[in-house]
Amino acid sequence: MTQKLANYIGGHPHAPRNGKYLDNFEPATGKVYSLIPDSGAEDIELAVQAAKTIFPWWSARTAGQRSEVLYSIANKIEQYASELAYAESKDQGKPLALARELEIPRAIHNFRFFASEILHQTEQAVHADASETLNYTHRSPLGVAGLISPWNLPLYLLTWKIAPAIAAGNTVVCKPSELTPMTAYMLGEILNEAGVPHGVVNIVFGRGATAGAALTANPEVPILSFTGGTATGRSVLTSAVPKFKKTSLELGGKNAAVVFADADVAEAAIQLVRSGFQNQGEICLCNSRIFVEEKVYPEFVEKFSRYASLLRVGNPEDKETNMGPLVSKEHKEKVQSYIELAKKEGGKIAFGGDTPTLSDYFSGGYFLNPTVVTDLPHTARCMQEEIFGPVVCIAPFKTEKEAIEFTNSTEYGLSASLWTRDVSRAHRVAQALQVGTVWVNCWMVRDLRVPFGGMKASGLGREGGRHSLEFYTETKNICVKL
Ligand code: NAD
Repeated sequence: MTQKLANYIGGHPHAPRNGKYLDNFEPATGKVYSLIPDSGAEDIELAVQAAKTIFPWWSARTAGQRSEVLYSIANKIEQYASELAYAESKDQGKPLALARELEIPRAIHNFRFFASEILHQTEQAVHADASETLNYTHRSPLGVAGLISPWNLPLYLLTWKIAPAIAAGNTVVCKPSELTPMTAYMLGEILNEAGVPHGVVNIVFGRGATAGAALTANPEVPILSFTGGTATGRSVLTSAVPKFKKTSLELGGKNAAVVFADADVAEAAIQLVRSGFQNQGEICLCNSRIFVEEKVYPEFVEKFSRYASLLRVGNPEDKETNMGPLVSKEHKEKVQSYIELAKKEGGKIAFGGDTPTLSDYFSGGYFLNPTVVTDLPHTARCMQEEIFGPVVCIAPFKTEKEAIEFTNSTEYGLSASLWTRDVSRAHRVAQALQVGTVWVNCWMVRDLRVPFGGMKASGLGREGGRHSLEFYTETKNICVKL
């Protein structure tokens, strides 16, 4: 029988009030394998009330007590790591190995990191001249935080919101993506086993336009953390602004890599194949545009296309697999439409552009080969718009100035990857790029201690770090006459 998922509210499973469910498709086969609550505003309201009820008690726990709860969650996730990785791979299509090596360990790290950080938080104190007054900052949690997450790294991104939010003393209502609910569903049971007090974390499944919009509009949710597409982010912000909600937005990207002629071209090609096609190109930080200095352009295109051709596309459970299926039929069709557009725009397909031949079992799956497009100008739509799939466009540049101009030419500004052996140029170009993160001679090396997020249409609220105890607290200044 098809498994029916339930919302997790006040520590208990809850069917959606309207009794409606959505089909959950397995991307590798295209078959329905579970049913997801198609929740509405009434389920969100129930969850907000559960979170609100326990907030005074939870926020009054000591940092040490909250830290212990977070460590306990991390340990439980670790205990169920294999089951979670399997569920994540089946639900989203990512290779099982990637879920095991990246996503689940990072979800564990999210809780351990903030369990530790909450113990080391200090506040500022300033003595005025002649010690006549003492100013100090006081931080307090805000209340019920609304956390909305996308489908591409479902457990990792959701836990990156939950961990700092509850460590800081808030309680939360989560709305995971309706395309990949499974690990968030399992998380509910894990939280109970970890001894998380009921109501501190609540998880409501459903569509964005209904459950998501109800969460952003709820007047008793003063803080919103959203990760998803730029268009959705705009509508979340529009709903949040009239109520002056503290809002963080992690949005889309069109990340460029820049390869200078003095770089280790072979190493750059190897790493950029990874950055272009990891998780089928469905990571917000993936590089979908590569600008290469003219002198090494033919060599780079040849190497990049050859390495891309070595990627194995197929059964996500297979150890040898590098790329699984895309997340949904609609998303695959969207990516394919961009490949057709690239051809119309004058691009050449240097590799891929088609679907792999797999066994009958996977005939309904949403697979696509890694696709390499060359010869498009940086102004082409395929070079400007987020495709969010396994399509990488490569183009040459002549000068450093041109490389910077091409990179900065999109509305997005999430990240960039820069390849050069010239230290001065690395710093100069990195500082000129309008993005939140620049990786020099590497890609996606993450450290939770540094700020993360995008500029321009890639997000809002990066200062101080969106996924931080600072974001999830209100700071006030108290001035005492001595
Ligand atoms: P999406 O915007 O379609 O959905 C994200 C979440 O928002 C889902 O849970 C969805 O149900 C919900 N939602 C949709 N409409 C809503 C509304 N009106 N009100 C409230 N919630 C609503 O994005 P997606 O397709 O799930 O994810 C892919 C996008 O996310 C890509 O653009 C990618 O770049 C971006 N992303 C960004 C980051 C980052 O850190 N910047 C990380 C991962 C993904």
